[in-house]
Amino acid sequence: MTTVAAYAAPAAKAPLERTAIERRPVGEFDVLIDIKYAGICHSDIHQAREGWGEAIFPMVPGHEIAGVVAEVGPGVTRYAVGDRVGVGCFVDSCRECEYCRKGEEQYCAKGAVNTYNDLDGNGEPTYGGYSRAVVVDENYVLRIPDALPLDAAAPLLCAGITTYSPLKRWQAGPGKSVAVVGMGGLGHMGVKIAHALGAEVTVLSQSLRKEEDGLRLGAGHYYATADPATFEKLAGSFDLILSTVSAPLNLDAYLSLLKPDGALVNVGAPEEPVSINLFSVIGGRKTLAGSMIGGIAETQEMLDFCAEHGFGAEIELIRADEINTAYERVLASDVRYRFVIDASSI
Ligand code: NAP
Ligand code: ZN
Ligand code: ZN
Repeated sequence: MTTVAAYAAPAAKAPLERTAIERRPVGEFDVLIDIKYAGICHSDIHQAREGWGEAIFPMVPGHEIAGVVAEVGPGVTRYAVGDRVGVGCFVDSCRECEYCRKGEEQYCAKGAVNTYNDLDGNGEPTYGGYSRAVVVDENYVLRIPDALPLDAAAPLLCAGITTYSPLKRWQAGPGKSVAVVGMGGLGHMGVKIAHALGAEVTVLSQSLRKEEDGLRLGAGHYYATADPATFEKLAGSFDLILSTVSAPLNLDAYLSLLKPDGALVNVGAPEEPVSINLFSVIGGRKTLAGSMIGGIAETQEMLDFCAEHGFGAEIELIRADEINTAYERVLASDVRYRFVIDASSI
């Protein structure tokens, strides 16, 4: 066991504080990663506050991890000491079920092991990226291309793959009109990726406060959803709407913005249920779908795609003692566009 410094929530809704945790010894197929940066995802906040239900405490959040390999187990073949690597939302899965076999480990029939707020195969709690080091099986580690700075790459491990996967699956590309709802951590990556895939991108944000950034990141159009005229003007406009909103939305209003046969794919994970009027999908044969992160192979594909197109996330680098303030700013939709913790300050 190795003792490492970390930031943890000692109990639900309690502020995060500096602590020490144990990491398991480096096993045959394990990689010890010296963490350099960890992104703050809104999911960290939902879980640290038990917004999604009962959680495991103390909790060390963080599933957007970027670092450098410090040690490898004797059976490791994919990584060597010094490699630039990342870890996303899960660190293990059954490896045998239909979904694991086809590279969709996030939908593992037995449940993938989440990077934190979960129990590993030995029943030990998992601890995430707000820490100095982590030990992960090499099959659940990603390679960060040299073209990407590690700090801007960290948020790709969740915000990047969560938007890339549905944009690819629902064929965002040339000739497609794509709306991204919410200009936060996921949303700003959705804009960059949809634009890089060749789609015509519209941002639907609560206000026009972040319009200049949205247009700079690749959107062609930007509308405020607080203005009811937006919904009249854009009725029937989009092939695909990607909602990244962390709070309940009026889905009927957004479904009315789709063309016939269009799809609204929801990746936001609000704490309360939402209801819809089914006539919103019957008329126009529309699809309402969801999507959760992405598998290991697709996450690597996304990292390589971002490197080829020369972009990571737009980040605000913070010290670990600023995490609690950062949480408040995320909750106020005041993040531009992902907080990333400099792990050397932990
Ligand atoms: P974030 O940075 O806080 O972005 C969410 C954005 O939603 C905000 O910036 C804001 O955009 C908009 N928003 C917030 N409250 C709103 C409200 N009441 N009405 C309308 N719009 C509102 O959060 P994130 O890290 O991108 O995560 C977004 C959501 O996705 C969270 O619920 C998170 O748990 C979930 N998530 C899901 C997956 C998955 O696999 N499906 C993966 C990661 C995260 P504007 O200011 O532009 O309006
Ligand atoms: Zn996340
Ligand atoms: Zn499985």
